[in-house]
Amino acid sequence: MREQAEPPVARGTAGFCHLHVHTHYSALDGACKVDELVARASELGMPALAITDHGVLSGIIQFYQQCNKAGIKPIIGLEAYVVEDRFRKEGQNEERWHLTLLARDDTGYRNLLKLGSLAFLEGYYYKPRMDYVALKEHAEGLICLTGCASGRLSRALQNGQTAAADAEIKRLLEIFGEGNVYLEMQETGIRELAEINPRLSELAARTGLKLVATNDVHYLREENAVAHDVLLCIQTGSRLSEENRMRFSSEEFFLKDEKEMLSAFPDHPEAVANSLEVAERCNVEIKLEEMLIPRFRCPRGTTKPPICASSAKRVLSAGTAARWRRRSANASRASSPWWKRWVSRPTS
Ligand SMILES: [Zn+2]
Ligand SMILES: [Zn+2]
Repeated sequence: MREQAEPPVARGTAGFCHLHVHTHYSALDGACKVDELVARASELGMPALAITDHGVLSGIIQFYQQCNKAGIKPIIGLEAYVVEDRFRKEGQNEERWHLTLLARDDTGYRNLLKLGSLAFLEGYYYKPRMDYVALKEHAEGLICLTGCASGRLSRALQNGQTAAADAEIKRLLEIFGEGNVYLEMQETGIRELAEINPRLSELAARTGLKLVATNDVHYLREENAVAHDVLLCIQTGSRLSEENRMRFSSEEFFLKDEKEMLSAFPDHPEAVANSLEVAERCNVEIKLEEMLIPRFRCPRGTTKPPICASSAKRVLSAGTAARWRRRSANASRASSPWWKRWVSRPTS
């Protein structure tokens, strides 16, 4: 019997929602447990919330279910690792850029799954990576935010490479289409952003692209920054006392509320508000009750299900019988006692 649907819960009314969030599925990097994350977002009155783990989509079903239960709109996304060529696997210093992808609709969700899979199956090299060719092939239904300080656009802006920044914007627009690219702006207190953000703001004015504020959330509350730092030490095999280890250079990567976000972006309240515009545009429904089984193609000229069923049965029976024979032979070899095998050994 089908379970009775949960009564609808009132949606939050905050004027901001987080579109760049790492859960513990960003292994040894994200410190937010999905249930606690959703509960906190609900406490803060967020009408929507995104999941954008590093290279993986492992948390999306749990996230989707928890959000629906809490009356929060779930936005399914991924912080992708992008390289020039996903098949090239040489050296350790190949540059990887971060890019935030969000599913706008069911097609986008399916494309995200495809991209996530091919990043592992074809692009894996230290990290699951994809390239612009893959993005182009699976861009339908996706919204792209230009990424954190490790995004290609941010790097170009930080280095004052205007032509490279423009080329990146052009490329992303060609891939995702007009209206589906937003300039991602973060204010997490790290040094690079002091150079990147004013240039992002100029770029928005020059190109007409919209800014959207995110906080690259890695832990729930400000006081969790210390625990998160320990997690990074576990990831990198270093000690807290080490001077030159990888660390986040601020304690602001937490789930800020609307007020905290507005005070982080005093010159860009529209970037904060635009998070809701993006959230409004993302509508994915994951059908969890549906049976997901492969489709059988009927043999040429036969369309009647009984014929398909009989041919499937024939193939499966033959395969099962062969497996069973192999299994039984192995089992009887393994189960015969050593002395029996020794007595019946061939003597010459
Ligand atoms: Zn990033
Ligand atoms: Zn991130």
